[in-house]
Amino acid sequence: MVKMYYDRDADMDLLAEKTIAVVGYGSQGAAQAQNLSDSGLDVIVGLREGGSSWNVAKADGMKVLGIGDAARRADIVHMLLPDEVQPDVYRREIAPGLEQGNAISFSHGFNIHYHQIVPPENVDVFMVAPKGPGYLVRRTYLEGAGVPCLLAVYQNASGSAREIGLGFAKGIGGTRAGVIETSFAEETETDLFGEQVDLCGGVSELIKASFETLVEAGYKPEIAYFETLHELKLIVDLIHEGGLTKMWYYVSNTAEYGGLTVGPKIINEQTRKAMKEALDRIQSGEFAREFVLEGKANMPVLKALEEKEHGHVIEQIGKELRSKMSWLEG
Ligand code: NAD
Ligand code: MG
Repeated sequence: MVKMYYDRDADMDLLAEKTIAVVGYGSQGAAQAQNLSDSGLDVIVGLREGGSSWNVAKADGMKVLGIGDAARRADIVHMLLPDEVQPDVYRREIAPGLEQGNAISFSHGFNIHYHQIVPPENVDVFMVAPKGPGYLVRRTYLEGAGVPCLLAVYQNASGSAREIGLGFAKGIGGTRAGVIETSFAEETETDLFGEQVDLCGGVSELIKASFETLVEAGYKPEIAYFETLHELKLIVDLIHEGGLTKMWYYVSNTAEYGGLTVGPKIINEQTRKAMKEALDRIQSGEFAREFVLEGKANMPVLKALEEKEHGHVIEQIGKELRSKMSWLEG
């Protein structure tokens, strides 16, 4: 079992004399800035003047400055802007404010790992990445708990980057739940792989392909919707609570026998080969280059694919059926 770090392993003393600038006040920024501040650390929030988050951060009682001012004043600049926005803002407003002995930190490794941001050699570069959305980072902190975090050090100029990172993780409540050490490469590559192959890409194609198979065979789309999309949640909840074992235990023997014998025919050698290809493209930097260029071109492929996805029959049917299920949150 991998080593987990808890409150007793982490020390915020190293952060006591430092000012932390949280840049960005969205899902993660709002949660992490408030937790760090409630933990007694000196936090300022760096935002675009007149941007949409400015008044929100003010209303939460944060000290808010322009991004350049915040970066200049801070000892640790924590980058919580959308990943595709970070490189430009870094070059224009953050890099000029980074001095020897400062640190720049992240909650996702993409920009550092794929060299979209290249900090000077005389600063620490670390990552504290909560494994949960911002609202949980905040809610669990207020309840006295926390969300597990990943910690990674890319550059250790001060000699204390790891201890500072661990103290930072303690400040957001991460060491209450447990911190696992990783590398920027491992966090970035596994994150991209998971979302492409399994969590987002794999699951959505599995749903559409099974739905289409039923509908093309003449079954009612409404019935197919319940079977291939709606019920997925019940299954995933069981897996989340008790692993695959709990799921197989709770479904019928028919489902268990059918699932275990037919599943490997669906996710088969060809699928595994495609998974390996996706991983190769992530490791070689090919996917990163494609996505960065897509961003520079204003996301033409992404927008076309979104439109197609939203127009799929299962989305129309789903919208109609969900409006009749009063217990679902829209
Ligand atoms: P977000 O989109 O919720 O928030 C972005 C913030 O940046 C907002 O304050 C927004 O006003 C500001 N912003 C947007 N465009 C800007 C621009 N052009 N110039 C200046 N400011 C701009 O982002 P998020 O989901 O909190 O993600 C932040 C980081 O946290 C990313 O690195 C992401 O990978 C990482 N992360 C997110 C989650 C999550 O659950 N959302 C989980 C783990 C890690
Ligand atoms: Mg992820």
